[in-house]
Amino acid sequence: MKVYELSVKEARDRLLQREISSRELTLGVLERIREIDPKIHAYLEVSEELAMEQAEEADKRLAKGDNISPLTGIPIAIKDNICAKGVRTTCASRILENFTPPYDATVISHLKQAGAVILGKTNMDEFAMGSSTENSGFQITRNPWNLERIPGGSSGGSAAAVASDMAICALGSDTGGSIRQPASYCSVVGLKPTYGRVSRYGLVAYGSSLDQIGPLTKNVIDAAIVLSAIAGHDPRDSTSVNKPVPDYTSYCREEIEGLRIGVPREYFAEGMDPEVANLVHSAIRRMEEMGAEIVDISLPHTQYAIACYYICAMAEASSNLARYDGAHYGYRAPDTDNIIEMYSKTRAQGFGAEVKRRIMLGTYALSAGYYDAYYLKALRVRTLIKRDFENAFEKVDIVATPVTPTAAFKIGEKITDPLTMYLSDIYTISLNLAGMCGISIPCGFTGGSLPVGLQLIANIFQEDILFRAAYAYEQSTPHHKRKPDI
Ligand code: GLN
Repeated sequence: MKVYELSVKEARDRLLQREISSRELTLGVLERIREIDPKIHAYLEVSEELAMEQAEEADKRLAKGDNISPLTGIPIAIKDNICAKGVRTTCASRILENFTPPYDATVISHLKQAGAVILGKTNMDEFAMGSSTENSGFQITRNPWNLERIPGGSSGGSAAAVASDMAICALGSDTGGSIRQPASYCSVVGLKPTYGRVSRYGLVAYGSSLDQIGPLTKNVIDAAIVLSAIAGHDPRDSTSVNKPVPDYTSYCREEIEGLRIGVPREYFAEGMDPEVANLVHSAIRRMEEMGAEIVDISLPHTQYAIACYYICAMAEASSNLARYDGAHYGYRAPDTDNIIEMYSKTRAQGFGAEVKRRIMLGTYALSAGYYDAYYLKALRVRTLIKRDFENAFEKVDIVATPVTPTAAFKIGEKITDPLTMYLSDIYTISLNLAGMCGISIPCGFTGGSLPVGLQLIANIFQEDILFRAAYAYEQSTPHHKRKPDI
């Protein structure tokens, strides 16, 4: 086995046994990036020098044997909307092409304290707006399982990097599915924590009431290791919740006897690829064989989720993105005569088409006369969607659904039709609206060898149940061990 193929847990065990050093591990992963990334284009920036410094530092800690945490010496990739001091952070946007943050996001501080090794920044849809990573202002990332297809989005670079062993694990962000959907398309594990579980300080805001940072990993226990390291209350994020952070790995046990799993009938609707539906149904049957109880449930407001999400997310985005005006940081249009012209040219030249579309739609939904009709109404629907889940969780412990209606689509297939692209988010966005946690785990492959994920959803702050169910299912299948042939 090559060092870059290791999972977090395997790498940690070898580091502790002194079988490898963090330096060797990091060099191995950097070499892998050099070899494979010209085909995948997962990274926007590889911070080799910083990574090697951190690896040497980690080796010193490991040699001394004190202050060691489960991530000490482990190379991790970071989505490019999470600020790391001194490392360019562009959000895959031309408007931030030259932005180097002077501070660390709280999750990065946690990783640094843990002694992790930061490999670099991964590609994404510009400002996390999209489902394919094709909206990047810089490059198109390819799916390691099929180079003609998208890796999903918006955390497509992170998912592709983990799937092709160009990182031992990665961080992404999820506003409406951006961790779970690329995880599903790339056959890795992706977890969207409960809103408030992980600090958003230093995460470039898209839809602030929906955004959460979370792990993309090679297996479930790795996701538990990473979440345990990054979760927790942060006085710098008033929406982060002051609740103790358990060691999530302690829930990774093969016990789902008696677990009540709800299967919402609205999630196997029209437009669902039968092959994907079959794989998800088989996964649910597998859990039933393992002793779980399957319960038919209804989430009746699911049909309004797309409209509701896109109004809320775009409204928040239009406000959040007002700060990119050329005055403070980032790109500034040259040769302008006055400040209004400077603002408008900077924004016209700096933002890509999808971002502009969303700023306009969001501004419209918030403007006088339309606010009640669109934004306020969407907020009301959001409450109904949240109640659907709350009612469901009175009857069941978790909910099992597909992550997406189809496997990864072809590059170019949906990019000219934004509405079709939005519709593909149908199964991931509801739980962001409701604030719940969810995980995508590999549940098989289509006849065309494209990965498919199973989504498990739990009530707020019940990541423990998610880990229990996800781990038990994963251990009973071979899917997470399969690797793409690049
Ligand atoms: N695809 C969704 C969107 O475009 C979700 C993106 C995300 O979770 N950041 O908004």
